[in-house]
Formats: sequence, C-alpha cells, structure tokens
Amino acid sequence: MHSDIKTTSGHRGLQQEEGLIFELAQPGVSGVDLPAPKGGPSRLGGLERSAPIGLPGLTEPETVRHYVRISQKNYSIDTGFYPLGSCTMKHNPRLNEKMARLPGFADVHPLQPAQTVQGALALIDTCAHWLKQLSGMAAVAMSPRAGAHGELCGLMAIRAAHDAKGEARKYVLVPDSAHGTNPATAAACGYEVKTIPSKANGRVDLQALLGSLDDDCAALMLTNPNTCGLFERNVLDIAEAVHGVGAYFYCDGANFNALVGKVRPGDLGVDAMHINLHKTFSTPHGGGGPGSGPVVLSEALAPFAPLPFVVQGTSGFDVTENEVDSPQAFGRLGAFHGQMGMFVRAVAYMMSHGADGLKQVAEDAVLSANYIKASLEDVMSVSYEGPCMHEVLFDDRFLQGSGVSTLDFAKALIDEGYHPMTVYFPLVVHGAMLIEPTETESKQSLDSFIKVMRALALAVKEEGAAARFAAAPQLTPRRRLDETQAARQPILRWRPQAEPAQAAE
Ligand SMILES: *Cc1c(COP(=O)(O)O)cnc(C)c1O
Repeated sequence: MHSDIKTTSGHRGLQQEEGLIFELAQPGVSGVDLPAPKGGPSRLGGLERSAPIGLPGLTEPETVRHYVRISQKNYSIDTGFYPLGSCTMKHNPRLNEKMARLPGFADVHPLQPAQTVQGALALIDTCAHWLKQLSGMAAVAMSPRAGAHGELCGLMAIRAAHDAKGEARKYVLVPDSAHGTNPATAAACGYEVKTIPSKANGRVDLQALLGSLDDDCAALMLTNPNTCGLFERNVLDIAEAVHGVGAYFYCDGANFNALVGKVRPGDLGVDAMHINLHKTFSTPHGGGGPGSGPVVLSEALAPFAPLPFVVQGTSGFDVTENEVDSPQAFGRLGAFHGQMGMFVRAVAYMMSHGADGLKQVAEDAVLSANYIKASLEDVMSVSYEGPCMHEVLFDDRFLQGSGVSTLDFAKALIDEGYHPMTVYFPLVVHGAMLIEPTETESKQSLDSFIKVMRALALAVKEEGAAARFAAAPQLTPRRRLDETQAARQPILRWRPQAEPAQAAE
C-alpha cells in the first residue's frame, strides 16, 4: 500500500482533492458572457443590490467538473455492495428507470385535469391494487412520501378512529428494538410512548406487552420482522389482545422485503402498515428523488384514510380532493398524490417479478442473510440463536479484549472498498452490526464480502490490532471526522478570509 505517498497536487491518482466551490472561484469570472444591460429606468423600487452578492466565479467547465467530481465521491448501490441493515439497499432495475422516464408519466403535472392523466391514475390504482393484494389489507393511502411519513399517516388514521368513537387514549406501545421513527411518530401524534422490553431471544416480551395493555392504549407499533432480523412470534395472540382493549395494531413494514409474497400482514391482524417502496420494491433511496411510503389499512381504519386519493368511477379515474366525498378522512396529508416516478418504478418491479417472483424475492433475501450468518458465525458473535430473516445481527462480543470497537471495525471495512453495515442499531445488543445483503447480491459478491469480513475478524486477534483499526480508514480522502463536533457546531456557511475586491455577479 502506498498510502503515505505525498503528491505535488494533493490529488491521489485519479482521485482529485476537491476544494469548496468558493475556494476554486476567481473574482470576475462567469460561465455566461452576456453584455451588461443598457442603462434604463429601474423597476425595482429602490430594492437594487448595493454590493456584490459574492457568488463564486467559475467558468462553465470548471463548474461542471467540480460537481461531477463531488458526485464521484459518493458510494452507491451502483458502485458496490451496500450491506446496511434494515434499509434494504437493493439494486434498482434499469427497466424501472426506463418506464419512469416515459413522457406520459414523467411529464405530467399534478394540477392537470383528471381526464388528461387517465393512464397515470390507472397506474397509481394498479400499484394500490398490488399493495392491497400483497398485504391482504382493505385499503391503501398512496400519498405518504417515506416510511416515517407513512407512520405519521397510520397513527393519524388511528387517532381519527379513536376520536370518532369519542375516545381520548393516552399512549402507544413501542418495543425497545424499534426504529427511532416509531416513538417519534407516536410522540408527534400527541401520545405518550410506553417502551416494551425485548427478551433474551431478541423478540418482544409477550408478558410485558400483555401486561401493559389497557383502555388507555391507542395502538401497538410492532416491526415484523423486527430490527434484530427475527420474526415476532405469537403475532395472532398479540393482535387479539391489542384489539381486545379497543386499540389498533400498527406494523412497521420497513422489512416487508422478507415477507413479500409469503405472508400477508392482513392475516396477522394488522390494522395499518407502511410499505417503503424504496426498500421492498426497489425504487431508489434518496438520490433518485423523494421516496414513497404507502400505508395499507384494515377495514376498520379505511374510512379515515387521508385525501387526496384515486377513485374509479363510470367515466374513468378521478381524484377525491375534498371532505364532502370522504367525511371521515383525517385530512389532507400532502398537496398532491405522491411520487409518480416511484409508483411507476414499483409497478414495473412488481409486474416484472410477478406473484411467483416476488415470493422468491423474500426467499432469496432470507437465504442471503443466513448465508452470511453461517459464513461468519465462527469468527464473529451472532446475537441470537437460530435462523434469521432478511438481516443478520452481530454484536461486539468477538471484539472483547482486543481494544477494537464496532466503529473501528466498520471503518476498516471502508479501506476494503465496502460501505459499512449499520452499526450501533438496534440498541438492544452491545456494539451492534446489522447486515442486510438483500436478494439482488450474487453469491460471488456475498463471498467477496464474507472473505473481507473474515479477514478483518481474524485481524482483530493479531498483535497491534487496536492501533491498526483505530487508524482506519487510511485510504479515503478524509479519515475520521469529529462527528460530534460536526453535529454540535456545524459550520454551514463559507466566509471569505478577506472581502474579495470584486466578486462575480
Ligand atoms: C427505514 C425504516 C423506517 C423509516 O422509513 P423511511 O422511509 O426512511 O422514512 C422505519 N422503520 C424501519 C424499521 C426502517 O427500517
């Protein structure tokens, strides 16, 4: 390794050192070359700028290169394996992208009259149909923009259902292994959060759960499979007990990837569940545009679904926009329907797999996680006995006495060309490392990852391991950042050393 070579330019091979755009800029430079406007009467009513605004001065090619170089510093699912747990970082099939770019879907405007967007509305309806079929639920709200937004939608529907019965319930039950968005959503909806402990086997403590249920409980929020990668047992009994006190069963469906085509949440007594299209149905996370988190609803909650929604009438599809047509709707969740491009990609994914293919998705996702588990369990510490679902949870017992922490271990993985797995989540095990390979990784790519993980796990036992791991990553443009300081004292604004004599306009 030549990690200590110093270059004249500061660049490392074809990886260029990148300054801030303000640091690259030259006063007076501009990407466009228009003549100064001829003087005439100002129509700005005295609001003219009195000093230059200090925009960076770059030519067009300099600007393009700056942003392209920055974009190439991103690690992505298109550049390598991304073993994040619970996030389902699976391949985004290019067929989906092609479909989403069809002008009839890509160029529609949300305010177009319904008659002019019948195909787009039909597609939303098709997506809704598949989601209802796969979940075994009565209705689906398509407008939520993400999983967390879907949780908000689900709990607002639950709140509206209690309000309609004249009941003001006080709290929501959330297991301690839950994703942080669960308690946050319950609190945002005005509920107190009651935490249910996990048992030593990684599942929710059934006795504690049953013991916490009473007439003040509005809902239980349960993730299944849970964030330890385990299928919650006794779900039917749990649903019955929750319903028995007049509460609703919210399921966090972020991990539906492990169940799709195999288990219908509706059959488990679930009343509401968000489905992250960017997880289970392969639409892009983040960088591909906003997400989509439709919420499937049971018969009991369906009347409270938010506006707007698509309906099919005698003269085609229409969008229900107001409370007159849906008097129990809890309100309007968003200005428009949702993410058209995400619906198109999800439908393309569902249709190209078909019912049998989607079932195989879940089977292969579970197989991949168990393959990783079986290949690493002799050198790392698996948190829970027995087979896992779509993700496998390790903790830091195998690091004990080595001076290497979970964070050090994750940073060493970066030098090996891998984005680290999810670390320190879920909180129920010490120094968690949560790995979700998904079904789209080949055996070859899993084997390459396993080889690296095994080598690192063995290196932990070697002389000087603590120093070596503490120094990782060594091969990245930046190494360990002070994340705490960055969060506590973020510097969000570039300030010039001295006022530039003449900044670009
Ligand atoms: C991803 C995830 C969420 C939140 O979904 P977003 O789409 O990121 O808002 C909630 N719960 C679990 C278990 C998740 O994995």
